[in-house]
Amino acid sequence: MYLNIDQRKMKHVDERGCKEAEALFQPYLLNKLNNKDISFLLDHIEHCSECADELEIRYLMQEGLKRLENGETLDLKGELGRKLEKSRQKVLFLERLKAGLFLVEGTVLLVILSQIILVWVS
Ligand SMILES: [Zn+2]
Repeated sequence: MYLNIDQRKMKHVDERGCKEAEALFQPYLLNKLNNKDISFLLDHIEHCSECADELEIRYLMQEGLKRLENGETLDLKGELGRKLEKSRQKVLFLERLKAGLFLVEGTVLLVILSQIILVWVS
Protein backbone atom coordinates (compact mmCIF):
# COMPACT_ATOMS: atom_id res chain seq x y z
CA MET A 1 0.00 0.00 0.00
CA TYR A 2 2.62 2.53 1.07
CA LEU A 3 4.93 1.24 -1.60
CA ASN A 4 2.31 1.92 -4.24
CA ILE A 5 1.96 5.52 -3.19
CA ASP A 6 5.70 5.98 -3.28
CA GLN A 7 5.96 4.45 -6.72
CA ARG A 8 3.25 6.71 -8.06
CA LYS A 9 5.00 9.72 -6.61
CA MET A 10 8.30 8.65 -8.15
CA LYS A 11 6.67 8.19 -11.51
CA HIS A 12 5.12 11.63 -11.32
CA VAL A 13 8.48 13.23 -10.62
CA ASP A 14 10.03 11.28 -13.46
CA GLU A 15 7.34 12.27 -15.89
CA ARG A 16 7.81 15.92 -15.12
CA GLY A 17 11.55 15.50 -15.64
CA CYS A 18 10.89 13.76 -18.94
CA LYS A 19 8.64 16.56 -20.14
CA GLU A 20 11.27 19.14 -19.29
CA ALA A 21 13.96 17.07 -20.94
CA GLU A 22 11.87 16.51 -24.04
CA ALA A 23 11.30 20.23 -24.43
CA LEU A 24 15.08 20.64 -24.58
CA PHE A 25 15.75 18.06 -27.30
CA GLN A 26 15.14 20.35 -30.22
CA PRO A 27 17.08 23.34 -28.88
CA TYR A 28 19.90 21.00 -27.95
CA LEU A 29 20.12 19.55 -31.43
CA LEU A 30 20.15 23.09 -32.81
CA ASN A 31 22.91 24.06 -30.33
CA LYS A 32 20.69 26.66 -28.73
CA LEU A 33 20.75 25.49 -25.13
CA ASN A 34 22.50 27.29 -22.32
CA ASN A 35 24.87 25.34 -20.12
CA LYS A 36 22.44 24.95 -17.26
CA ASP A 37 19.90 23.27 -19.53
CA ILE A 38 22.58 21.13 -21.18
CA SER A 39 23.67 19.99 -17.75
CA PHE A 40 20.08 19.10 -16.84
CA LEU A 41 19.52 17.27 -20.12
CA LEU A 42 22.73 15.24 -19.88
CA ASP A 43 21.97 14.33 -16.33
CA HIS A 44 18.44 13.29 -17.24
CA ILE A 45 19.27 11.04 -20.20
CA GLU A 46 21.98 9.42 -18.16
CA HIS A 47 19.30 8.16 -15.79
CA CYS A 48 16.38 7.86 -18.20
CA SER A 49 16.84 5.47 -21.09
CA GLU A 50 13.46 6.44 -22.55
CA CYS A 51 14.55 10.01 -23.10
CA ALA A 52 17.98 8.89 -24.29
CA ASP A 53 16.29 6.76 -26.94
CA GLU A 54 13.89 9.55 -27.81
CA LEU A 55 16.72 12.02 -28.26
CA GLU A 56 18.53 9.53 -30.47
CA ILE A 57 15.46 9.05 -32.64
CA ARG A 58 14.97 12.80 -33.00
CA TYR A 59 18.60 13.21 -33.95
CA LEU A 60 18.51 10.36 -36.44
CA MET A 61 15.38 11.74 -38.07
CA GLN A 62 16.56 15.30 -38.23
CA GLU A 63 20.14 14.69 -39.32
CA GLY A 64 19.32 11.59 -41.33
CA LEU A 65 17.00 13.47 -43.66
CA LYS A 66 19.53 16.22 -44.15
CA ARG A 67 22.30 13.73 -44.94
CA LEU A 68 20.20 11.66 -47.27
CA GLU A 69 19.41 14.79 -49.25
CA ASN A 70 23.11 15.55 -49.46
CA GLY A 71 23.94 11.94 -50.26
CA GLU A 72 26.37 11.67 -47.35
CA THR A 73 27.22 8.47 -45.53
CA LEU A 74 25.65 7.92 -42.17
CA ASP A 75 27.23 7.27 -38.82
CA LEU A 76 24.68 9.27 -36.93
CA LYS A 77 24.56 7.15 -33.82
CA GLY A 78 28.30 7.62 -33.39
CA GLU A 79 27.96 11.32 -34.08
CA LEU A 80 25.28 11.84 -31.47
CA GLY A 81 27.49 10.01 -29.00
CA ARG A 82 30.35 12.38 -29.79
CA LYS A 83 28.08 15.42 -29.59
CA LEU A 84 26.86 14.33 -26.16
CA GLU A 85 30.39 13.62 -25.03
CA LYS A 86 31.48 17.07 -26.14
CA SER A 87 28.63 18.66 -24.18
CA ARG A 88 29.59 16.62 -21.15
CA GLN A 89 33.20 17.82 -21.40
CA LYS A 90 32.05 21.41 -21.78
CA VAL A 91 29.81 21.24 -18.72
CA LEU A 92 32.58 19.60 -16.72
CA PHE A 93 35.07 22.20 -17.88
CA LEU A 94 32.78 25.07 -16.91
CA GLU A 95 32.15 23.55 -13.51
CA ARG A 96 35.88 23.26 -12.94
CA LEU A 97 36.40 26.78 -14.20
CA LYS A 98 33.80 28.04 -11.75
CA ALA A 99 35.45 26.15 -8.90
CA GLY A 100 38.78 27.62 -10.01
CA LEU A 101 37.40 31.13 -10.07
CA PHE A 102 36.09 30.79 -6.54
CA LEU A 103 39.54 29.63 -5.52
CA VAL A 104 41.11 32.68 -7.18
CA GLU A 105 38.58 35.00 -5.55
CA GLY A 106 39.35 33.44 -2.20
CA THR A 107 43.07 33.88 -2.72
CA VAL A 108 42.69 37.52 -3.79
CA LEU A 109 40.58 38.18 -0.73
CA LEU A 110 43.22 36.61 1.50
CA VAL A 111 45.96 38.71 -0.08
CA ILE A 112 43.95 41.90 0.39
CA LEU A 113 43.15 40.98 3.97
CA SER A 114 46.78 40.25 4.78
CA GLN A 115 47.79 43.62 3.26
CA ILE A 116 45.25 45.40 5.39
CA ILE A 117 46.45 43.58 8.48
CA LEU A 118 50.08 44.39 7.64
CA VAL A 119 49.28 48.09 7.22
CA TRP A 120 47.22 48.07 10.38
CA VAL A 121 49.95 46.35 12.42
CA SER A 122 52.84 48.56 11.25
ZN1 LIG B 1 13.07 10.89 -19.19
